[in-house]
Amino acid sequence: MGRLRSETERSEISHDQLRAMQLAKLRAGLPDVLATNAFWRARLHDVRGWDDFERLPLTTKSQLMADQASAPPFGTNLTYPLDHYVRLHQTSGSSGGHPLHWLDTAGSWEWCARIWAQHVYRAAGVTGDDRVFCAFSFGLGCLCISGGAMTSEQRVHTILDLGATVLLSTPTYALRLAEVARDGGVDLARSGIRVTIHAGEPGASIPSTRDAIEAAWSAVSFDHTGMTELGPTGHSCSARDGVHLIESEYIFEVTSEGELVATNLGRWGMPLVRYRTGDRVVASREPCSCGSPFLKVVGGIRGRVDDMFTVRGVNLYPSQVEEIVRRYREVGEFVIEHRRERQMDEVAVVVETLVSDFPVERLEADLRQALGVRLGCRVVAPGTLPRSELKARRVVRL
Ligand SMILES: [Zn+2]
Repeated sequence: MGRLRSETERSEISHDQLRAMQLAKLRAGLPDVLATNAFWRARLHDVRGWDDFERLPLTTKSQLMADQASAPPFGTNLTYPLDHYVRLHQTSGSSGGHPLHWLDTAGSWEWCARIWAQHVYRAAGVTGDDRVFCAFSFGLGCLCISGGAMTSEQRVHTILDLGATVLLSTPTYALRLAEVARDGGVDLARSGIRVTIHAGEPGASIPSTRDAIEAAWSAVSFDHTGMTELGPTGHSCSARDGVHLIESEYIFEVTSEGELVATNLGRWGMPLVRYRTGDRVVASREPCSCGSPFLKVVGGIRGRVDDMFTVRGVNLYPSQVEEIVRRYREVGEFVIEHRRERQMDEVAVVVETLVSDFPVERLEADLRQALGVRLGCRVVAPGTLPRSELKARRVVRL
């Protein structure tokens, strides 16, 4: 009964109630941070209302990196003595520079795990009966089979042998595992995987990429957003047209340039306040058919703010190119080569395919029609482009 009622409340919570809940959570957590956390004490002030909140400064990843570099290894964003922390995570460092180290207390870690159970897994219909195969270095809830330190071939066989029902991976890596299975004569439709959940890249919100993953795995694919230093922030829903941001556990803002800014409301051991995520989004408050009261990021995260490239005055993101390229099932990997010559941006899409008569001109025409500018395309042999088990690097600047 209690559970039923809380679900009803969740779907009927008004925006004002949500705002009041956010402010109450922030006001409950902030006093400890202001008292003992050296990083935030120097930056924040007490928050009584939204006016106070909006006067807090924005924080960037480079400020966090500089702090950890000047007070190694964990920096000064620590609310409690070190022996209160039980888990360490680290960012992939894929954007260059040193990875960030992120520590959780037992309470902060429970907060992350609860968000996975109550929001991410629930939206995907994953229950305690599922067996989750995790190709990331972490896994939460359910029986989680960790796929670290294995080759891709070993991972395919482990998924089959152990009867995994849920796959967690980047979208690119789900396609890579399908490629490995096919090369090894393994039929993935025979596997028990019924749900795939993807993070790290926007792919699971790009219809053509999601279609390719669902076809390869005979499964239903969901998008999940989150960051090592922030926590799990959102998930796609039955409407399949975007990602809901979990506003009961975060405060989200979008800058005038379209960058997502987030404040977490429960990871108090190493919190982030008004953190610039670097993700470019278009947000909507239109009611969703799934009943979620949360803000929706339309079409998922469009890309990283610094991944944008310009061709003859038109601003483009890799996800717009991906939506077209993934319609061609014969393409394995692809990258966008960006070259600046004599003040001109030259961009070429390089696709990897087995097919000898791949229709390059048709792909060029499709890209031109969808994006409004001409991008040259080039075909290379399979295995030429680098493979990544983490985030694929889509834009190569030459
Ligand atoms: Zn929805």
